[in-house]
Amino acid sequence: MKISRLLTLSTAVLALLVFGMLGHITREAWLHYDDTSAGLQALRLTQRAMIAAEKLSFERGPVNAVLGDRQPADPARRDRLTRARAATDLALIQLERELQNDFGTQHPVEMASLYQALAEARNTVDTLASAAPAERTPELLKNAIGRMFALVPLALDAVGGYTLASERAYPRISRTLIKTRYAVELREYAGRLGSVLTVPLAKRQALVPAEHEQLEMLRGRLAQLRQQIQALGEDGGNPAGFNTVMARVDEIYFGTGLGLVAGIEAASRAGRDYGMDTGQFAQRYVPTMTPILSLRDELLQEAQTQAQSDHEHARTELLIVCSSGVAILLALTLLLLIVRRRVIVPLLRATRAVIRLGNGDYSRDSSGSQRADEIGDMLRALSTLRTNSIERQQLELERQHLIDELRRRADTDYLTGLLNRRAFTTASTQRLRRARGRNETLAVVLFDIDHFKSVNDSHGHETGDQVLIRVASVVREELRDGEILARHGGEEFVVMPAHCTQEQACALAERLRSAIASEPLTLADGHILRVTASFGVASAAGPQISLDDLLHAADLALYRAKRKGRNRVESAA
Ligand code: GH3
Ligand code: MG
Ligand code: MG
Repeated sequence: MKISRLLTLSTAVLALLVFGMLGHITREAWLHYDDTSAGLQALRLTQRAMIAAEKLSFERGPVNAVLGDRQPADPARRDRLTRARAATDLALIQLERELQNDFGTQHPVEMASLYQALAEARNTVDTLASAAPAERTPELLKNAIGRMFALVPLALDAVGGYTLASERAYPRISRTLIKTRYAVELREYAGRLGSVLTVPLAKRQALVPAEHEQLEMLRGRLAQLRQQIQALGEDGGNPAGFNTVMARVDEIYFGTGLGLVAGIEAASRAGRDYGMDTGQFAQRYVPTMTPILSLRDELLQEAQTQAQSDHEHARTELLIVCSSGVAILLALTLLLLIVRRRVIVPLLRATRAVIRLGNGDYSRDSSGSQRADEIGDMLRALSTLRTNSIERQQLELERQHLIDELRRRADTDYLTGLLNRRAFTTASTQRLRRARGRNETLAVVLFDIDHFKSVNDSHGHETGDQVLIRVASVVREELRDGEILARHGGEEFVVMPAHCTQEQACALAERLRSAIASEPLTLADGHILRVTASFGVASAAGPQISLDDLLHAADLALYRAKRKGRNRVESAA
């Protein structure tokens, strides 16, 4: 597989893996962040529900006062009840709004049943309050108070699911939330304890054994809740102000508040007058529960601080995950781009350059690189290889040129530039072979300059050379391509025409003879020199013809031409 393809494939696999991994991590971080957001909202909702529950508990105080009122009714007590109810309504509206805003719950079922129970309870209270004191039997009073009691769990249950959600999102704060719930219950049971005295105080009658028992049971529950709150905070999980607030709860509620209740019990046992009615009792008892609310608020505040810090931590984590994800992807892309640009692409170019060099194409220089890395070294090495190859190619060309030149010189007569005897033998043998194969007639024209010795003798050897050059040139002019002309030796030449009969060869010889004879040579000293030549023509056909026989026949004819007076053509018989 090619490297570029391998890189593309592995890039795709790597990108898939990194995307998958980053996607998973980011999703986890996002889900955690989302959980903490929802948890934070759930916590706000829990707080609203606890406030609503407390307002419902608080409303029971004025209810007790109104139910224990004489006729005519005390407007101040009525007014306190109206304000308490308004405070409850406001807390419930806020709770409902929070539910709608944060969770899109348009008409929470729990809220509907709470509203209905509240309306019924208030109706019962109002009916009983408007009746004459004598008609307010203990059963009717207990029923009215019981209806009010039932409202608090309803308010807390309305958000129970969301509280669990916030505990799930913030396991760290679940302990604080449990303590908060215990604090809410503490306030609720403290209220219930006060309410036990409503009937005896309203009726100004002694507590019945069942009421004593109820008080005992409620005190036990209160002590238990207090102990549970204390125990949960023992391992150091308490907010800074916890101990101070707890000390105030102990002093004001468990001391003063329960002391007030104990005083009434003692008076009841002794058969003494209580010295107060339900309203007066409520006025003294209710404020002793305030530190419990402070405790609840302190714990809620702590839970919220912890949740907020968890939420911010989750957001920071999400941001870190997202930005490192982006950074990893960027780094990966950059790395791949660098590898591609600085390794793969130059490698491909280098490969193509090597292939070109291998094919002997040195036209392009692929280096020119100033790079200081290994790829730069490789490109420079390629450039050196190219330079060396070019030099070697030039040397090779020169050598070939020299060989050709040597070959040409070996085949050429140095003086006339015609083929020498050796080259004539090679060329004519080939033609002979072809003529044999095709059964063609092959002719040879042999000619020799007449009285050449006397030219040398009279005008010098150099003039003799000039005559030889001149005769060669005249004959070459007369011949066509494909007709072999060679210097056969001394002042003797040979022509092998391309495929012709004896007559045609004789005609050619005659033409050559005439051309030589008619071309005078002007010497340096102004003398005009005329030379002639004698020709012998021979031809043969068939598979048996030989060059030696042909030349011999032509030589005999040439000899005859000399004998018959020179400057003539003689044909072999
Ligand atoms: P014939 O008409 O019978 O052929 O008489 P000839 O004088 O031409 O013949 P001969 O064979 O007696 O003389 C040939 C002369 O050619 C002898 C030699 O010195 C001369 N010769 C041979 N080669 C060369 C050459 O390359 N240059 C010069 N200048 N002379 C040459
Ligand atoms: Mg001669
Ligand atoms: Mg001769």
